[in-house]
Amino acid sequence: MSVLMVKYYLASTVALILLLHKVNGELYATTATNVTFVFPSLEAKFGPRLPMNGLRGIINTANPIDACSTIRPPPYNSSKLNWFVVIRRGGCDFSVKVYTAQQAGYAAAIVYNNGGSNEITRMEGGPDFAVVQIPSIFVGEETGFALRESFFYATGATIVLARTFPSLWTFYCLPFVMIGVICILMLLGLAISGLHMMVQKHRDRNRLRRRVDSLPTKKFKKGRDDQIYDVCAVCLEDYEDNDKLRLLPCNHAFHARCIDPWILGQDKSTCPLCKQPINKKAEQTDCECNRTEEETEPNQYAASAITNHEGAEAALGATGTSESTPLMLYNLQPELTLSDSPK
Ligand SMILES: [Zn+2]
Ligand SMILES: [Zn+2]
Repeated sequence: MSVLMVKYYLASTVALILLLHKVNGELYATTATNVTFVFPSLEAKFGPRLPMNGLRGIINTANPIDACSTIRPPPYNSSKLNWFVVIRRGGCDFSVKVYTAQQAGYAAAIVYNNGGSNEITRMEGGPDFAVVQIPSIFVGEETGFALRESFFYATGATIVLARTFPSLWTFYCLPFVMIGVICILMLLGLAISGLHMMVQKHRDRNRLRRRVDSLPTKKFKKGRDDQIYDVCAVCLEDYEDNDKLRLLPCNHAFHARCIDPWILGQDKSTCPLCKQPINKKAEQTDCECNRTEEETEPNQYAASAITNHEGAEAALGATGTSESTPLMLYNLQPELTLSDSPK
């Protein structure tokens, strides 16, 4: 084995190892003395694929070498072997080169890189790629030189062009990568749905907060209000001067600090005493958010009391009168309405 052969052997082995992670196409070159060398290669994106068990033949060098114009046909007809032509990269589209080889009568084209590059890329066709009817492969520049010099048909060497299979890296790692991607997508989906639920919960809470804030409040004054309200049914403490009372649509009153968390903490938002929902009334007063005692006219209380009179009576019938939290039936107690009027 000559020094040149050893060099090719080492070069092809190193190139093969380096490119194993992305290229698994191979070109087998067998000398007349039956020594086989393997060179990495890659099939083109255009044209037919190589047969499953490869294509066997002998090689000639293109003339002109770039095959951008008509090239000379194979030197003679071979009934046993296919003719392959070695073409240098550059000057025109890959598909033009391969089509030129096809027109000259070659069974396949081997295009090698130029400019000192041994990089192996997948050849893309130009606009006319559809006319290409023969397979073609791409090899590094050193492989091209080796084929031209040492595996030329006159040396008696034969070549087998093997199909490009997915690389080992792709074959073994792709399933793991896919599983990883699926897991990431699932986690992303869970995170998004969790975020959506959080936002929804926050919105619901804000809506409820606005409803609670829209309910009227009243500052408790001893001597004025203790005939109507005396004890908060939530904390069971007596009302003190300046306690802020929240008045529910059912006319029950509680400490604002007691009833607000109660309403916000439960889903149905009902009065803890009579179980009447606060929502309907609150929706009606949504436009009057944060209405306070000062802003609330006594007439509105009266109107509210009249509107809710029947409901309140029904509630009384259902739950019995609560001595600790009398109803605000202003229309039945005109003297209290008067005492409640702003001075
Ligand atoms: Zn309370
Ligand atoms: Zn109530």
